[in-house]
Amino acid sequence: MRFVHDTLPQRVCFGSGEAAANLSNEIGKLGASRVMLIAATAEVDLADAVVKDVPVALRHHDVVMHVPVEVAARAREAAAKHDIDALVSVGGGSTTGLAKAIALTTGLPIVAVPTTYAGSEATPVWGLTEGAKKTTGTDSRVLPRVIVYDATLTMSLPVEMSVASGLNALAHCVDSMWAPNADPVNAALAAEGIRSLAAGLPKVVADPMDLDGREHALYAAYLSAAAFASAGSGLHHKICHVLGGKYNLPHAQTHATVLPYVLAFNGPAAPDAERRIAVAFGGAEAASRAGGAEAASRAGGAGPVSTAGALDGLVALKRELNAPRALADYGFTEDSVAEAAEAILPSVPPSNPRPVTAADLRALLHAAWSGADPATVF
Ligand code: NAD
Repeated sequence: MRFVHDTLPQRVCFGSGEAAANLSNEIGKLGASRVMLIAATAEVDLADAVVKDVPVALRHHDVVMHVPVEVAARAREAAAKHDIDALVSVGGGSTTGLAKAIALTTGLPIVAVPTTYAGSEATPVWGLTEGAKKTTGTDSRVLPRVIVYDATLTMSLPVEMSVASGLNALAHCVDSMWAPNADPVNAALAAEGIRSLAAGLPKVVADPMDLDGREHALYAAYLSAAAFASAGSGLHHKICHVLGGKYNLPHAQTHATVLPYVLAFNGPAAPDAERRIAVAFGGAEAASRAGGAEAASRAGGAGPVSTAGALDGLVALKRELNAPRALADYGFTEDSVAEAAEAILPSVPPSNPRPVTAADLRALLHAAWSGADPATVF
């Protein structure tokens, strides 16, 4: 076994009902006295309760998904005008993303309080959008110094969004298994992330106020993002990046829809990854839920686990969660399939477990567009 693994310097405070106390403590440690609170309009009530003991000098609610450059410019100006010395983001990936845009040019420290499972808080990746083009980059200045996780803050996230966001986290885990910098450390984080999401998300769907389910999902969101931050973007993320940027598809739902097709395509060429994914989904038990005794025997026991084991686990979970199924439901059209395939092809990682052709991408995208059974596509 040989690998080089970077662990990111970041403090993680996890405690349900403890966000206000943890945040105040961490802001004190940073010595900050003029905090800029960033929270989207839908997140204001959550944020107000969390920052009650924090010296807030400015409240900023002008948050837009994918961080348009003009939104970033306004936020940077406001931070400079108010002599801000720390940024606190309370919200989903879009809110964290705006804090990162400010930190990118100012170096201000971020304390992130996430309220979805997007995981941006655990990565040094920033994104900005100009017109229809989204640019991303990696910079250590945008990695939040501290993450304050509090599962009670996620209880108001509607079930549908919780499912899509949770599958966004699942996509980080699965793609981390074969991304360009995949290694045994991020594979272990990813496997535990899959296990915890598979345990937590059904509970959230059954009862959005189920604290145990919410904690499992939030803990998994962190693991998934830590794995992804280290492993980098694999085929799945390259596909979703193009779909999101070029066709303005919703981020989490696009990930949730495309993931099974990438697993069906890559799985057979990555047997170790596939085995770990199958086991993390609950192995024989998950496969049995999806496909009965035959699938259970494929996934179970000490013997080799086929693609069907991993894919059955994912398909069974998605069915249980009533998760997004077809890109057609989110505005992607059949006549965009060929164009999207050509746009994705140049960004396919050379290290992908199997070569990818334009025809492969067309088949994958067509199936994702229609919501076809992923087991029958490749
Ligand atoms: P989001 O932040 O846009 O949130 C979706 C909606 O849910 C918003 O209206 C938001 O205000 C609302 N919301 C958030 N938390 C809530 C809560 N607890 N209760 C009720 N409503 C709540 O969506 P997202 O999926 O979290 O983030 C997507 C963005 O994050 C995209 O721009 C994506 O590119 C980015 N992202 C970046 C990284 C990275 O590493 N840089 C990783 C993942 C996602």
